[in-house]
Amino acid sequence: MKTKTFVKMKRAVGGFTAAAMVICTSLSYGGVYAEDEPSVDDIENQIQQIEQENDQRRDEIDQLGDEISSNQAALENVAELLDNQKQLVDYYNNLVYYKELDIEDTQAKIAELDKSIEEVKGQIAEAEKQVDELEAQNADNLEKFAEIVRAMYMHSDSDLFGILAGSDNFYEMSVGTEVLNNITEKNIEFMDRLTDDIKRLEDYKKELETQRQKLSDTQADYIAQEEKLTSEKDELVGLQNDSQSAVDSYQNDYNNYQSAISELEQQQSDLHYMINVSEEEIAALEEEVRQMILAAQKPPESELQDGMEWMWPLSTDYHMITCNFGYDPDMDRYHRGTDIGDGGIYGANIYSTKGGTVIIANSSYGWNGGYGMYVVVDHGGGYTSLYAHMSAVYVSEGQEVAQGDVLGAVGDTGWATGPHLHFEIRINGDATDALGYVNVP
Ligand SMILES: [Zn+2]
Repeated sequence: MKTKTFVKMKRAVGGFTAAAMVICTSLSYGGVYAEDEPSVDDIENQIQQIEQENDQRRDEIDQLGDEISSNQAALENVAELLDNQKQLVDYYNNLVYYKELDIEDTQAKIAELDKSIEEVKGQIAEAEKQVDELEAQNADNLEKFAEIVRAMYMHSDSDLFGILAGSDNFYEMSVGTEVLNNITEKNIEFMDRLTDDIKRLEDYKKELETQRQKLSDTQADYIAQEEKLTSEKDELVGLQNDSQSAVDSYQNDYNNYQSAISELEQQQSDLHYMINVSEEEIAALEEEVRQMILAAQKPPESELQDGMEWMWPLSTDYHMITCNFGYDPDMDRYHRGTDIGDGGIYGANIYSTKGGTVIIANSSYGWNGGYGMYVVVDHGGGYTSLYAHMSAVYVSEGQEVAQGDVLGAVGDTGWATGPHLHFEIRINGDATDALGYVNVP
């Protein structure tokens, strides 16, 4: 397909202003990278600068390594303290555990004593009951005796003393006395026995009371012991808590050191990454230097005169050459292409100078070897054309283009001090003067 967008325009004489010009000689004081392409020295300087930065990064990595080591030492120190403190917590745990066993033991004894005391109290109550019973028997017996005496008195004509005092004969008196004596004696014997039993029971009761008192005393001792053990246990729990707090605090320190180390290691790793990236950049710059040296070799005259038809890559409205191809000794700069600028050129269509295949269509912002957005078309036979500093790229790699097809728009990406087209024609990768192929309209 032939040109669909290319329109041949007449040259507009004087149709541009000085303000819109991009003139390479005017940029010689503009700093290290004043024009599109820096000099070999510029790039060498840049490489050196990057290497210095990398040296600084290596120093930083060493410093970070020192910091990591000191943090590591502190970490190990804290780890030891933490271990010791954990052992102390275990130790107090054991002490508290055994103290609790002692307390339980003592409480069991107190409970046991409670039971014994209750038992003794039961026995005391039992004894009291028996005493009461015996006392009741005694009272009963006394009552019965009194009844007998009363009966005897009722059945005689005299009272008891009368019987004894008033007997007419000794027999009568002796029989009466004997009976009375007999009864009295038996009764006394019985009462004595009761009295003895009561006394024995009272003694037994006293003994039980003593026993109960002893048990209560023992129990009181155990209660005191329990209180003592409990306060000892409380003290141990306090120490245990203190140790646990210390463990927590050391653990916190440990974690802090660990995260500090991770952070420092991350910084180191970032620096290593930056060094790697910079080394790749250095490699790319070195390759660029190599390419520049290659490009400095002028192509043979015959190649420039091969008679092929090449098209002006812009509308004929834009035809001001702002920088020519070749080495400029004043600037120590080798310009591999032809710069074309003109008033209002920004955004203008860029046409493929000849049909071919797009082999590079770089539409990313940034350096790109100073080209910014750029396109390379392979025309076969070792010929390629290059269009740089574009503001937009319309084609993609692998795409077939016809002569005059729009590749993109004029811009100022990459190393450009203003909008212009940097146009190159290369033979087998070596730059040649494009103006040997195209005519300036
Ligand atoms: Zn240029």
